[in-house]
Amino acid sequence: MAINYRLEGHAAVVTGSTSGIGQAMAGALAEQGVNVMLNGFGDAAKIEADRAALAARTGVQVLFHGADMSKPAQIADLIATAHKAFGRIDILVNNAGVQHVAAVDEFPDEKWDQIIGINLSSVFHATKHALPVMKGQGRGRIVNIASAHGLVASPFKSAYVAAKHGVVGFTKSTALEVARAGITVNAICPGYVKTPLVEMQIGDQARTRGISPERVVEEVILAAQPNKAFVEYDQLAGMMLYLVSDLGASTTGAAYTIDGGWTAA
Ligand code: NAD
Repeated sequence: MAINYRLEGHAAVVTGSTSGIGQAMAGALAEQGVNVMLNGFGDAAKIEADRAALAARTGVQVLFHGADMSKPAQIADLIATAHKAFGRIDILVNNAGVQHVAAVDEFPDEKWDQIIGINLSSVFHATKHALPVMKGQGRGRIVNIASAHGLVASPFKSAYVAAKHGVVGFTKSTALEVARAGITVNAICPGYVKTPLVEMQIGDQARTRGISPERVVEEVILAAQPNKAFVEYDQLAGMMLYLVSDLGASTTGAAYTIDGGWTAA
């Protein structure tokens, strides 16, 4: 049976979609006929080239809004601009996120505030502004990109772990509120994904530790991931497409792991 997600003509906002997972999610949605509002930081010329290439490749409308996801007023404008441009918002993927690694007693206050703001509070602000639109449509899909760190912890990542646990809790609470409104709210909790940042870390760590890149991957980066394999973008996109399609209508308030067995341990 060929699965048709039936998403043509829908409209999505994907936060933090100028690189990594968000960019892959936006691409997967556009390939299914969904008009997409991109968001994120980066080189303006590259962002515009990527936006134009995705629009040309898929034939959907692809727009960009540079809202800083740590700024509530800019988040409100991102959602309002998408609504105005597309006339609807069917899908919100809350993906923007940053990391900082330090011991709690040395954690810089501004880094704590930044991580909580971008990784957790932005999910609240974007959801708050998208929900009235979705309620008006009688249908909506919200997918929050949390992390295995939304379910379990690692040392030295206190702000990130706190924010991602918060995202999972917020996902559940919001799902309960809107369960009768045709709106689902779910979290995806990936293990390690081989984004450009992770690829750079492999080379750096191999040089610093004087071991092969293969050993860095298995013993350092994927130490917590039992299958010793990075999570692929397509694996995340497949789950996301399921959740945002009609197939996901009964699936809400959940946190789905895609982590090679990490959180089973
Ligand atoms: P990435 O650095 O490649 O992408 C992050 C995106 O967020 C970029 O587009 C960036 O411009 C944007 N961004 C950062 N700060 C922003 C701000 N203030 N306003 C607007 N946009 C901002 O990272 P990624 O690895 O693709 O991570 C995406 C999400 O997936 C994050 O929430 C991250 O926590 C989560 N995640 C990543 C992994 C992994 O292994 N890479 C694992 C689990 C969860």
